[in-house]
Amino acid sequence: MDKISLGKSSVDTTYFYGGVTGGGAYGPGICEKVVGISASGKLTVKRLPFHDNRSGSKRSGSLDYELTGDGVYRAYAYADSNRSEGPEFFFELEGYALKELNRQELDERLRALSPDSFAIAEHAQRKVARRRELLPVVQAEVHDFAAAGERLEVTKVDVDDQLQLSRLTVTRYQSCGHFDEISVNTMNQLITHLSAPSLPCTYCEAHAEKMRAADETIKRLQDTASAKNLPTLSGSPRQIKWALEIRDNFWQKNPGNPLLKRATTAKYWIENRESLK
Ligand SMILES: [Zn+2]
Repeated sequence: MDKISLGKSSVDTTYFYGGVTGGGAYGPGICEKVVGISASGKLTVKRLPFHDNRSGSKRSGSLDYELTGDGVYRAYAYADSNRSEGPEFFFELEGYALKELNRQELDERLRALSPDSFAIAEHAQRKVARRRELLPVVQAEVHDFAAAGERLEVTKVDVDDQLQLSRLTVTRYQSCGHFDEISVNTMNQLITHLSAPSLPCTYCEAHAEKMRAADETIKRLQDTASAKNLPTLSGSPRQIKWALEIRDNFWQKNPGNPLLKRATTAKYWIENRESLK
């Protein structure tokens, strides 16, 4: 009788014997019949009847799956030694002959079992492989179009059914560190997009505008203070703005207080704001 040994598990023309080892840590594994493949590339399988020949504690013995006639079978998570589980394993039963199937032989069987969905799944796989293959090629090409200080990183490429580039997404890192994303259908579109006169970074622009507004506010407050014959304050723009408000309130209640002329750091006014009311 034909038999294939998988270390602590094995298969003959009647049963797949899923051994349990490592005190129950490994095995018994799963054996099932492969009846086809779906269009998304997932195997369609059928469960097999089994005989539980494990010990009462299930820490030794084996779970024996009964093969249900000719066909393709898959086994996985079975114990192949006392300390490990073996890799996914495909085999074929034909009459009294048992044969391990390699990837190519398995594909031949799957193509025969589900011709239509196998073709779809195969094509989808080819597209994935093509995308993976194109990414570094497109990246190398795109790299050359970066302006000074810019970095272009291709994050995604798509291919059509003819396996030609149909879409690419590029992240453009500007010299300031901000970035934007460009999605186009062709390399030419990307070049056109990148050739457009580059606008200043919108994030940096917005930030600069905010800083300008803050500076103006501080200048106005400092001017008002000078008009009252009070010294300007030192500190960060945010601190100065806050401190000037605190000092102004204090000035309204204590116009002649010597602190008004002596305390010239924003920090002082902020830290003592509670006692300066
Ligand atoms: Zn920026």
